[in-house]
Amino acid sequence: MASTAPHTFKDARASGVVASESRPMDRSCKHLDQIRDVMPSGPGCVECVAAGRHDWVHLRWCQECGHVGCCDNSPGKHATGHNRTTHHPIIRSYEPGEEWYYCYPDDIDFELADAPPNPSHP
Ligand SMILES: [Zn+2]
Ligand SMILES: [Zn+2]
Ligand SMILES: [Zn+2]
Repeated sequence: MASTAPHTFKDARASGVVASESRPMDRSCKHLDQIRDVMPSGPGCVECVAAGRHDWVHLRWCQECGHVGCCDNSPGKHATGHNRTTHHPIIRSYEPGEEWYYCYPDDIDFELADAPPNPSHP
């Protein structure tokens, strides 16, 4: 109870669920064929590390090119920035214990039954 976890609630919705209740179940991601067998670009957000900062909250991992960027709760929002500039559609959580994916153009989060193990960051 004493610990402060300012970032847990906003992202909690996306963890451990197949689809959000608030969204129709018949929506599905049409970009699954763009998930590649990629390696994470590194243990931290590419842009933040390049700028010498480490103040991200959560990390997201692009499934098309392997870019690791910070989430929208982070000051840099580089995962979304990566999507804006590259239009790579799908990210996966790069957080330990989180298996979900998120598709930007479809605006849905989901899990894949046959997903490879999440390497996550240290
Ligand atoms: Zn999609
Ligand atoms: Zn960042
Ligand atoms: Zn990418």
